[in-house]
Formats: sequence, structure tokens, C-alpha cells
Amino acid sequence: MLFTKMADALVTVVKLHTFFLSLKVHRSIRSFPEPQSPSTSGHIVSKLQAGVKDAKLLLDFYYSVRGLVLVKEQFSGTDLSLGDAEAIFRSIKALSQSDGRWRYSSNNPESSSFAAGLAFETLGGVISLPPSDIFSTCFSFLWVHTTLFRVLGVVKVSTVLGSKAPALIVKLAAQALSSGSKGSSVINNQEIKFDADSATYFLDSFPKNFDVGKLDLSKDGAVSLSANHLQKLRLSYQLNTPLGHVFKPHQAFLKLKHESQVEHIFLVKTSGKKSELVLDFLGLVEKLYYLSGKYEIQLTIGDASMENSLLSNIGHIELDLPERPEKAAQPPVQPTDPYSRYGPKAEISHIFRVPEKLPAKQLSLVFLGLIVLPFIAFLIGLTRLGVNIKSFPSSVGAGTSARCSEHKGTFFVGSVSVVRGTQYTLSPRISIEQVEICLKNIYSLVWVLTLFDGCYLSRRAMSHSAASSGKRRIRDLLTQSDNRVCADCGAPDPKWASANIGVFICLKCCGVHRSLGTHVSKVLSVTLDEWSDEEVDSMIEIGGNASANSIYEAFIPDGSSKPRTDASHDHRMRFIRSKYEFQEFLKPSLRITSGKTSSSSYRSSSLSSNIIDSFRTTSSSQKPQLEGMVEFIGSLKVTLKKGTNLAIRDMMTSDPYVVLTLGQQTAQSTVMKSNLNPVWNEELMLSVPHDYGSVKLQVFDYDTFSADDIMGEAEIDIQPLITSAMAFGDPEMFGDMQIGKWLKSNDNALIEDSIINIADGKVKQEVQIKLQNVESGELELELEWLPLEQ
Ligand SMILES: [Zn+2]
Repeated sequence: MLFTKMADALVTVVKLHTFFLSLKVHRSIRSFPEPQSPSTSGHIVSKLQAGVKDAKLLLDFYYSVRGLVLVKEQFSGTDLSLGDAEAIFRSIKALSQSDGRWRYSSNNPESSSFAAGLAFETLGGVISLPPSDIFSTCFSFLWVHTTLFRVLGVVKVSTVLGSKAPALIVKLAAQALSSGSKGSSVINNQEIKFDADSATYFLDSFPKNFDVGKLDLSKDGAVSLSANHLQKLRLSYQLNTPLGHVFKPHQAFLKLKHESQVEHIFLVKTSGKKSELVLDFLGLVEKLYYLSGKYEIQLTIGDASMENSLLSNIGHIELDLPERPEKAAQPPVQPTDPYSRYGPKAEISHIFRVPEKLPAKQLSLVFLGLIVLPFIAFLIGLTRLGVNIKSFPSSVGAGTSARCSEHKGTFFVGSVSVVRGTQYTLSPRISIEQVEICLKNIYSLVWVLTLFDGCYLSRRAMSHSAASSGKRRIRDLLTQSDNRVCADCGAPDPKWASANIGVFICLKCCGVHRSLGTHVSKVLSVTLDEWSDEEVDSMIEIGGNASANSIYEAFIPDGSSKPRTDASHDHRMRFIRSKYEFQEFLKPSLRITSGKTSSSSYRSSSLSSNIIDSFRTTSSSQKPQLEGMVEFIGSLKVTLKKGTNLAIRDMMTSDPYVVLTLGQQTAQSTVMKSNLNPVWNEELMLSVPHDYGSVKLQVFDYDTFSADDIMGEAEIDIQPLITSAMAFGDPEMFGDMQIGKWLKSNDNALIEDSIINIADGKVKQEVQIKLQNVESGELELELEWLPLEQ
């Protein structure tokens, strides 16, 4: 009854909407028997097909298409062909996407999501696609006849209602290739194409960046092999894209991993389409450390087109290898603690130099001896030669000072070398390198000694040793009783000598001798002057005052008398000229008859004695500028009192001494050892010529092995003293009084005005000077004027 009503209703219903709902109700009550009349179902179908054909709205398509699906479910044997399925599909698509949105009604935009549902449902009535397993596999993988990958199937698409499938382009959204759980967007927006002849869809090119790593290789793919060391394992495979294109990965490695975690990795080479690897276990036993047992096989494939490299467990192999010989390498210990394997490692310490080996101690001592011996020998040699080391500084004249300071430097270097060498060898052990240094030191020392020897021993020290020994001989001669008094006036304790005549004389007679000129008498100070060998020999040959006077005073006539100690200058002058210049008191046989002839005439005459010979020799050796008259007007006695706050030239102190220079003369004080405030109280004598200048004063630091260091200098103007003294004449005529003054000024070194006094019948001057060209130092002196005409 109900069916009849329904059927009638269906036949009479005009609106598609009502028709569709009626079919739904019909399905719901499930009591719908087979339609009795095919015309009834035919009527329904034709009505729905017309609805599809005339559809202008999405809903028209929906009701008619879904209505047909309902009829297909409920009425069998009915021809339900849609006709042009492709046109219907496109129409639904076009209606739904007319402005980019699924549109149900333009008046009600809110309904667009509902419209989308309707459109999908309608399309679902047109074609039916298989569910998600369409592209679950992608390419094949062949390995020892075991297929690990399924070939991509080609999907056949059919229409729901039996018509020819529409040729559609389908965009794949996502995960189409993934059979695993992880999502992938690698084939996003790839289009599936439709082959109308076979009614199938396909991807005509495989996406370039498809992800191999997402494939499940382990499922049913694990192989289990066993082998011994005499067998080989050949492994080959080919990677294919779903459409059979060869896929060549950039990298492929096979890893064998033993139970003890020892791993071995082999590179799989690809040539052509095939990748192949042959493992010859006989050749690999050593590399495998003879470890038998189960090895896991892993394949690693990497390529730029793969998001992640593929690491796949293929299976395992049971290896039976021979026992490890004793000599074979032990397998590396695999750390069980991941921290010790991947954690921070111990700091690397660097050793830059291996400590040197040290030679035996005896060798060290031998080298010590080698180094020290030449130095000791050198010192002994110096002593043997009788070098007066103290006299080095004073003897170093201005001309040689530069040369000697140069050698002072080299000698210093030598000394340092000795010290260094000694330091090395004094340590209990020395290295080979140090031995080399020592040898160099020895050579340099020998070189320095040679230089030193050349400089000082031959040039200076030798002459000094001779000079000092010569002076000693002169002093010895002076101690003879006849030489204890002046040869001319008998004054005691003469300090001067006439080298060519061979007599010792007092200061006053010395003045007269000087006034005669060096061609008659060459006057030298026994203590202050330097004596040449010739001069010393001449003095000794003559034998002193007694033997000289036995010749020069052989016959003193009655008219002439020998002057006494206190004789006047005139008397002294007369006598001395007669005695030596005119030689009036010689033996008659030697006497020159003409009397007052020139000295050259008598020298060329009959005089043949040793005296005259030596006289002539000495005279001819004189330098030309010293020839002729050198007139002295008096003597200057300088009492060096003390020094204050002198400069430091050695480590902590200095060894000062003072040198006075007046014209060609010099006078030197004694050396005060290690004293910056020395007290000398020492008298130094200088003869004052007619054209005197100022006295130059220099202070030196005495050095044993080098040229002495200057410790300051000053000039002393002696003109105030001498002019004052001469103005007053004989000071013994006056009482103590001030007679002059040397004024302090910016041009001189005076600390305060220097007063010239007559004291106890002597003309004296106290001088306090500040040393110049030095950081510190003052000197206190006393000058005393000794005129010749006393
Ligand atoms: Zn005298």
C-alpha cells in the first residue's frame, strides 16, 4: 500500500528535490519490494537522467545524480548510464569552482561549506577512485631474487554508473607515496594524468625529490645468509622509479656490523644500471679481525634528491672465519659507555722539544779545563812578563786611547765568553749544544788573547815592563852614596837627572840645566818622567855623579868655585854652564883649546869618550821640536788633598786616580782602591815653562784589564798664582798674608773663590773644584809656587 502510494507519488512528482527525498525514504523503510513494473523504474530513471541533463544548479546535479545512485542500489537490471560522464563532471566542477569557492547559493555565502559537501557527494556518484593504497609502493628493488619493493600499480578508474570514465586531471595533495606513518608533501601538486584508452591514471614522471627513506624495507625483506671464509658474497641491485626508470643514487654503502659492535663499511659502486659489490671473505679476514658470528647487513643510500638518506636493515649473515693468529691485530675495544665515545676527550698536551741527552760528567770537566786553561795561562803569562797592570791607564796616551778602548771591548767579550763557558761547565752535566758553545768560546778567547797580546804586551805592556824595570835601575843607581847629593851644588836628595851627562841634580840646578837646552843637558825627573832604554843605559854606563864629576870637574881652576846648596842663581848658572856647556873643567887633554866655541865644533873635535858618544847618540834621537831652549820659570807643587762624591765607574764604586797635564808634562797620583771619597795628600810636581797654559786635571777610574774610564776633568788657571807670586818676589820677606785671588766664574770649575796666600814664606793657593763632564765629584787641591830664583 505504502509502496503503491510511493510509486504513484514518484511518478507524479515533478520536482527533483521531492523525487530524491522519496527515494531516500524508500531506501530507509527497506520494505521496498521489486518494482512490479519496469516502466515504473524506467520512468524514475528517465526522469532523473533528464534532471541531470537539464541541471543548471549544483543542487539539480546533486538530486539527480544521487537519485540515480539510490535507484542503482535498489533496482537491479536497470540501465543507469549517465551518458556523457565527462561533461557532467566538468559541469559540477565548474559550478562549484565558479568563483573559487564551492557555491550553493550566491545569496548565502555561509552555505559554501555545505555546497562543497554536496559537490563532493555528487562527484562521488560520477566516478569512484580506489582508497589510499593507490600509490602505496613506488619502485622495485632487486636483491638476491628477493623483491623488497612492490611495483607501483596502475590504477584503473571506473565510473559509478557504468559510463565511460571522464579524462580528468587530478592533483595529488599529499602522502600519496607514503605507505608509512610519516606524512610527506614531496609530491604536492603533482598531476595524475588519465589514459582514456585503458581508462587508467598515471604519473608520467616520478617526482624528483621523492623520499626513499620513507619506504618500509624491513617488512618480509630480511634475508638470512651464512658463509665461511672461502665463499664470496655477491650483492647487486637496481633502483627503479615506478615507471621503470633507473634511479642512480649519489652514494651507497654497505655496512657489516658484528655482534661486538665492530663495524666495517664498504662502498657500493654503480656502473650502468646495476650496483654491485662482491665481498671476498678470504681477503677480508684480517680486516674483520677474524671475528666469526652474526653480522647485520645495512644498506645506506644517499642522494641530493632524497630528504633523508636511506638506512635499511637488509638482513644478517652468519660468518664462519678461521681463528685469529697471535700476531694478528686485536679488534678495537668498543666503548660501552656512550659518554666515553662521544663525550669530551682529554686535553691534548704538546711537547715541543725532546730533552737533550747529556754527555758524561768527565767530558764536562774536560771541557771546563779546556776553557779555563788558556785564561789561566794568559794570566800566568802576564805575571811572567812583569806587566805592571796598574800602570796601564796612565801610560795610555791620547793617541792610543782609542785603539785600546777598542780592545777593551774585545777583551770584555772574551771575559764574558769565559764566564759563560764556566757557567756551562760548572753545571754537573752539559749538553752537546753547550759543548759547541764552549768550543766557540775557546776559539774566541784565543782570538781575544792574541789581540790583547798584540795590543798591550807588545806595544804597551812590554815597553812599560821595560820602562818600569829601567826606572828601577835608575832608582838603584840613585841609592849610591855619591848620588845622594846634587852633582853640582851638593844639595841632598836630588830627584832629577841629566840623562845625557849622567848626573843626578837638585831642583834648582835642574832649572839651570833646562835653560841650557836639551842639546846640552837633557833633564828628566827620576820619579815622574818616562825614561827610554837608551837614557837608562847612558846613565848606568857613566856610573853616577862621582864618575861624571871625575871627568867634568877634573880640573877646577882657582877662579871658579863649586856653588853651595844655598848659592845664588847667577853663581849656579855660571858654574853649570862652565862645567857642561863649555866643559872648562875637563882634563887638559880633552879640553877644547879655543874655549868658548860653539858646541858643535867641540863635539866634532877630539872628544872620543863614551860620555860624548852617548851624549851624541841621545842628542841625535831627540825630536826636532824639543831642540833648542826650553825656558822654565819655576815649578808647581800640587798637593792633591782629597776627592768628594766621585762618580761610580765599576759595579758599586771606583778606583780613582788623578792625572795633571801641563804642556808636554804629566803627573799622576796613586790609585785609591774602591773609594768614592779618597784622601790622597799626595804631592805632584810640574815644571812651569815660560809660556805656560792652564793645568789640565783629569780623574780616571783604574781598570786592570781595560782602558781606564774618565771620571771628570777640570782646568786650573795657574796664572793668578804665578803673577801674584812674581809681583811679591821673595815670599820669605813677607808675613802671612793674602796676595791674590782666582775668582769663581761660569767659565771655570771653581766651587768658591780661590785665595792665594803667603804662608810660612811660601806662596800657596787653596783650590776647590767641581769636576766637569761627569755626573758628580769634587776635588780639593793646594798649589804651591816654587820659583827658580830662590
Ligand atoms: Zn844642585
